[in-house]
Amino acid sequence: MQHGAGGLVPGFEDKRTFGNRPNGIYLPRFRNVKDQHPDFLRGYGYQGGGYRSVAGWGRGSTRRGFGADFKHGLRVPEYGSWRMSLGGFGECLPHPDNRVTLDPERVDRWGIPVLHIDMQWRENERAMMADAETAAAEMLEAAGCTDVKTYNNDTPPGLTIHEMGTARMGKSPKDSVLNKWNQVWDAPNVFVTDGASMASSGCQNPSVTYMALTARAVDHAVGALNRKEL
Ligand SMILES: Cc1cc2nc3c(=O)[nH]c(=O)nc-3n(C[C@H](O)[C@H](O)[C@H](O)COP(=O)(O)OP(=O)(O)OC[C@H]3O[C@@H](n4cnc5c(N)ncnc54)[C@H](O)[C@@H]3O)c2cc1C
Repeated sequence: MQHGAGGLVPGFEDKRTFGNRPNGIYLPRFRNVKDQHPDFLRGYGYQGGGYRSVAGWGRGSTRRGFGADFKHGLRVPEYGSWRMSLGGFGECLPHPDNRVTLDPERVDRWGIPVLHIDMQWRENERAMMADAETAAAEMLEAAGCTDVKTYNNDTPPGLTIHEMGTARMGKSPKDSVLNKWNQVWDAPNVFVTDGASMASSGCQNPSVTYMALTARAVDHAVGALNRKEL
């Protein structure tokens, strides 16, 4: 799901960036850090940034045309007003029936069972993202933005760029796929070091954690190999 808000930033119209675009902004989780929100558990962070309403940073990428006129058109300074947007990135609570299994019947063209994905957004995710819309609009208004509008792109699971889980890490093979070293309980020479090991998604960007888990798992695997345990 993609929920948040955007607004117009008055002024600064004579200001332009030069060279590469500036980085976006990150606003860390602030819900359910100290007090419990009445409508949902856990929380969300915002990722966002400023952009020009007409030209944007992807200037020309959606325009049709070619040749000299097209190139000249891209040089015309039609930047428009500044805008700012904030998009919520929230935690998806783990549920046992949000899962991926091997399809018992369907196979791909090589005869390998295809994945069967059972996953749906639930009440907690929906309540959290509704709050992400409202709070983003409040912040933009408090910062002086006008024409503030919320957005609610109710995208299906799988399109949120931080998908995790499906081979979670745990203390026992009874209720987990991987041990604390990202090692498959049932096949000790297999290590799964991506987001599959996460028991919950969290709301933060995950890649650095995957890299740390990978380094940790590799260190363990090398030690085990040297001790001839693998
Ligand atoms: C648009 C977008 C923006 C993102 N932005 C951020 C961000 O700002 N910060 C952040 O922390 N995370 C971000 N993420 C998430 C991050 O990219 C992923 O969490 C991370 O790339 C996962 O790394 P990985 O090595 O586990 O998997 P991947 O990077 O997906 O690598 C898996 C690799 O396995 C290969 N593969 C798949 N199947 C097979 C097969 N059968 N045989 C051989 N190879 C195979 C694939 O081709 C791929 O190269 C973003 C994701 C997207 C889509």
